[in-house]
Amino acid sequence: MPSTRTVCPYCGVGCGVIATPRAGGGVDIAGDPDHPANFGRLCSKGAALGETLSLDDRLLQPMIAGKRATWSRALDLVATRFTEAIRSHGPDSVALYVSGQILIEDYYVANKFMKGFIGSANIDTNSRLCMASSVAGHKRAFGSDTVPGCYEDLEEADLVVLVGSNLAWCHPVLFQRLAAAREKRGTKVVVVDPRRTETCEIADLHLALAPGSDVALFNGLLPYIAGSHVIDRNWISAHTIGFSDTCKAAARTPFHDVVRITGLSEAALHAFFDLFVSTERVVTIYSQGVNQSTSGTDKVNAIINCHLATGRIGRPGMGPFSVTGQPNAMGGRETGGLATTLAAHMDLDNAEHRRIVQAHWVSPRIAGKPGLKAVDLFRAVKAGRIRALWIMATNPVDSMPEADDVRGALEACPFVVVSEVERHTDTTSVADVLLPSLGWGEKSGTVTNSERRISRQRAFLPRPGEAKADWWQLAEVARRMGFADAFAWKSPHDVFVEHARLTATDNDGKRDLDLGDVATLSRGAYDAMQPFQWPRRRARIFGDGRFFTPDGKARFVPTPFRPLATSTSASLPFVLNTGRVRDQWHTMTRTGKTPRLTSHIAEPYLEIHPDDAQPIGLAPATIAQVSSPHGMVLLRVLVTKRQRRGSVFAPIHWTAQVAGRARVDSVVAGHVDPVSGQPELKATPVAVKQFPAAWYGFAVSQSKPVVREVEYWAVAPATNGWCVELAGAELNGDWDATARTLLNLPATADLLSLRDRTAGHFRCAGFDGERLLGALFVAQHPVEVSRAWAAAQLGHHFDGVHERLAILSGRPASGANDKGAIVCACFDVGCNQIIGAIANGCSTVAAVGTATSAGTSCGSCRTQIARMLDAKPTAKTG
Ligand code: SF4
Repeated sequence: MPSTRTVCPYCGVGCGVIATPRAGGGVDIAGDPDHPANFGRLCSKGAALGETLSLDDRLLQPMIAGKRATWSRALDLVATRFTEAIRSHGPDSVALYVSGQILIEDYYVANKFMKGFIGSANIDTNSRLCMASSVAGHKRAFGSDTVPGCYEDLEEADLVVLVGSNLAWCHPVLFQRLAAAREKRGTKVVVVDPRRTETCEIADLHLALAPGSDVALFNGLLPYIAGSHVIDRNWISAHTIGFSDTCKAAARTPFHDVVRITGLSEAALHAFFDLFVSTERVVTIYSQGVNQSTSGTDKVNAIINCHLATGRIGRPGMGPFSVTGQPNAMGGRETGGLATTLAAHMDLDNAEHRRIVQAHWVSPRIAGKPGLKAVDLFRAVKAGRIRALWIMATNPVDSMPEADDVRGALEACPFVVVSEVERHTDTTSVADVLLPSLGWGEKSGTVTNSERRISRQRAFLPRPGEAKADWWQLAEVARRMGFADAFAWKSPHDVFVEHARLTATDNDGKRDLDLGDVATLSRGAYDAMQPFQWPRRRARIFGDGRFFTPDGKARFVPTPFRPLATSTSASLPFVLNTGRVRDQWHTMTRTGKTPRLTSHIAEPYLEIHPDDAQPIGLAPATIAQVSSPHGMVLLRVLVTKRQRRGSVFAPIHWTAQVAGRARVDSVVAGHVDPVSGQPELKATPVAVKQFPAAWYGFAVSQSKPVVREVEYWAVAPATNGWCVELAGAELNGDWDATARTLLNLPATADLLSLRDRTAGHFRCAGFDGERLLGALFVAQHPVEVSRAWAAAQLGHHFDGVHERLAILSGRPASGANDKGAIVCACFDVGCNQIIGAIANGCSTVAAVGTATSAGTSCGSCRTQIARMLDAKPTAKTG
């Protein structure tokens, strides 16, 4: 079967992928050796793409009120309800909430529909939760939302400072490029993060600063630079404005206050400042730890200030570098997918820009003021001001802060449309109309990665069921609302060239984004388009000292330190930080489909420092109850010194589809940055206490488990079925009956069970003849069984009573292989195998790889192996 060159749909690295459908079904996935983002590398998520393409639980037909409908009926209804809302309540009574998962073409059409034809800027994107602070910071400093650097800068830098970025897990291929460069040229790495993440495995210095204190850190650095020999006064005077005032403002946080606010030692601060000052080639990478904050925009500008003061921007190996979370967050910015921008990097508050865009669209009207940013948008839904809402390719019932409120608002909203790939998500459950969208491998268009590189995402699978492209859905509704001429495209190529033409219209170098030289591409040339960076022929911007402000000069922005929006208190003593895990993506609708990706971390958890866990009686592997004024979740306890005292961490991925009370954003407060509107997702005061579990359970089952009336549960796929973790507050009287329901056993199944009433243990295994259908293990304490081994027994035949009883032991017979929890997802290598290799003399990651294969494919687990090799920190912690 022919191969297709496309691009990974997960993170903002934007790796090139070669997809080759197999004749007998399935798709082989390989990294594209010619793609400049990854040169053939893929991380564990990208490498497992072929296993996430099943049509199980796909949404394949339009649905109205839960019933199958034709496209024409569904589209007519959407158009009618939007028209009625606008007629009765005005254009600001409707809204679109879209996603960094959709393509440039989808974004362009959505934005044109909303801002040009409905006449409201009420279109926002889940990228608001991800990088809106970077957009706002760029615009304040540069006059444009421009990322100055490129990935090669990481390889050409002598110092890379990572601020609020767990690059090892969240941008793994970029991390591998940095790790390889460090091996080659001895690049120094500083990690600025309250947590000791996997990224710290390559750090020379880890600054475990207090949550939210980044501005104080960089305000401390700026006067240090100003008093040093590296201050570039000629460059500052020729190319910037505001240095002196910004320095004075920064100096209002004297060094002893920087020490106090950040919680870092004087020695650690001096070590960082000296390193920054004495190294010319410095790249500062920042991500959600910077952006997801009520002072996110100031954090961005505090970092940029330090680069402007040294003139280290837009030159090889130098510059501030915001890396985006999603595959097309940058494309959304380019097309105007944010409620605060217009289109093609033009502005809503600029009359000339509005004229250019309206003329290009030939639209009857143009939005003249910013629309509602995500948090405000859902609050407007709750207040009844939004009467019709169209959600596309995102899951706000899980991903928005104060998520229970968001769910309630959507349930009460008069009309909610959801365009989705999956049939069952926490957001599709509140939709009036469901529209089936094409997924990765089926849709076609373009995306922009973190370094401004536009790549083609190409289809290589047939369109399933009645699924349609998102841009087509929008255009069909627009046509039904009377705008047929402006939405008459036949293909994504037509849309792309219209977008490219707009970027070039009346530009003449006045705006950063100019795609004029691809604006006349033929359909064939678009199909064959190779990945390219804008501006063409220049990988870096601002190296010439010219910026996109009216006078061409960059702006220093004073950034007075502000504390977190809310402080901890006696009743809410911990700061909850949220983020990603290595092998999962967003709300797990795709990565949750394959055991290869769920085997690394199979359930939601809370990381807590031992000194915090012990006084509140929180033992490892028990269940924690985490609550705030907004909600409550139950999470497995992970006690670790990697966590800063006073802070706890929980991943964002688990939803009500796969777990009990684990929707972490239901606990998170919706405080936002006053400039960017980005919510503070990484610092919510919470209470943590032990969930009073009377029992813990673990089960494996060939059928999907049926979980009823259990407080804590988390389901994950296994190779031959499913695994489920359980815990309950009340002891069960009839475990046999519970097991039959949970394991979905047929009435004819044999149940072999053992019960120790004194110890509170119960174990059972269900058989269909000799075949194992499932097993349940219950104890009064966290269940100790070999999860990987138990799951691997599903479907096997056990013909003697001794073999059957062996299942109930929950682990292999002595001497047999128990690989333990999976570390290497590519080769299914468990921690026990790696521990064995280390015990046998392997002393390096490479040696462990040679012995077990772990870490020799995508490389995402190498930092974890390094950690196992040496429990002692490799970086000095400040
Ligand atoms: Fe995909 Fe991983 Fe590359 Fe990100 S680093 S684009 S998730 S393969």
